[in-house]
Amino acid sequence: MAMPLRQTLRVGTYLMEQKLRRRDKFPLIVELEPLFACNLACEGCGKIQHPAGVLKQRMPVAQAVGAVLESGAPMVSIAGGEPLMHPQIDEIVRQLVARRKYVFLCTNALLMRKKLDKFTPSPYFTFTVHIDGLRERHDESVAKEGTFDEAVAAIKEAKRRGFRVTTNSTFFNTDTPQTIIEVLDYLNDDLKVDEMMISPAYAYEKAPDQEHFLGVEQTRELFRKAFAGGNRRRWRLNHSPLFLDFLEGKVDFECTAWGIPNYSLFGWQRPCYLMADGYVPTYRELIEKTDWAKYGRGKDPRCANCMAHCGYEPTAVLATMGSLKESIRAARETLGT
Ligand code: SF4
Ligand code: SF4
Repeated sequence: MAMPLRQTLRVGTYLMEQKLRRRDKFPLIVELEPLFACNLACEGCGKIQHPAGVLKQRMPVAQAVGAVLESGAPMVSIAGGEPLMHPQIDEIVRQLVARRKYVFLCTNALLMRKKLDKFTPSPYFTFTVHIDGLRERHDESVAKEGTFDEAVAAIKEAKRRGFRVTTNSTFFNTDTPQTIIEVLDYLNDDLKVDEMMISPAYAYEKAPDQEHFLGVEQTRELFRKAFAGGNRRRWRLNHSPLFLDFLEGKVDFECTAWGIPNYSLFGWQRPCYLMADGYVPTYRELIEKTDWAKYGRGKDPRCANCMAHCGYEPTAVLATMGSLKESIRAARETLGT
């Protein structure tokens, strides 16, 4: 894991505090969705299917910042929809950074070059650009030609101006180990982004394309082959070693979706950003009034093929904290030794 040392120490301290306070459920990172509108229409997207009246709404700044503060999470991932379409997105970022939250702004990058002037480079702020493959594959995945080239140009310009830039790649059953290797090699070695996140696609009920989602065994085989030959060690992947073991099928975990909760225009979404079984106004209510035991693979049929980081990365992080051997392994990867 290539998470910067400062961020690792901050998150480690936060986790220790939760342990000392004997809290068994707490947020690691909030998935904040201040709008659902987007300037793309990807086939696998479960967010842009909302009615027009919902797509027009934008979350007020105070509501967005207040929700993150109420949860107490040290990190925030702002997604949507396309967050750069929110007219006050820079103010939301500025206020969160001022409170020393680590903010990841997830974007398809189409508006990024135009909006760069609104942001200031900071160790607390990162652009996370959605890239699903090399040019042809990415443009096909987002159903718009030229998107890959624009994303690459935006990444280069943001890096030139001193911003931290990471990427987020979603893989489908149309991917092969080779297509994964090609795109991660390109991001790691040619574009030299700071870190990369990877995810098997989740089959949203609302997504129009239901054919191309991966099953658990397919996911494990795909990542096992892609990680082989030293790739996993060489790539700057923004995941804990145990979560990568999980993707490869070396370990299995229970879902702990309360660790990466979702807050959107509707409120705190139960149980995670992938599934919507109702909303509550506060994180506390989400924790206290959700029957967490009924979610996860083997419990809810909608979870059957889910290996998403929002359910299993918190489990991997907690397992790391609970084991001296795994803590040393994670620390060594952070320090690059
Ligand atoms: S860029 Fe993201 S939010 Fe926009 S359509 Fe694609 S998956 Fe959905
Ligand atoms: S397994 Fe967990 S993260 Fe995945 S869909 Fe089910 S509740 Fe959400």
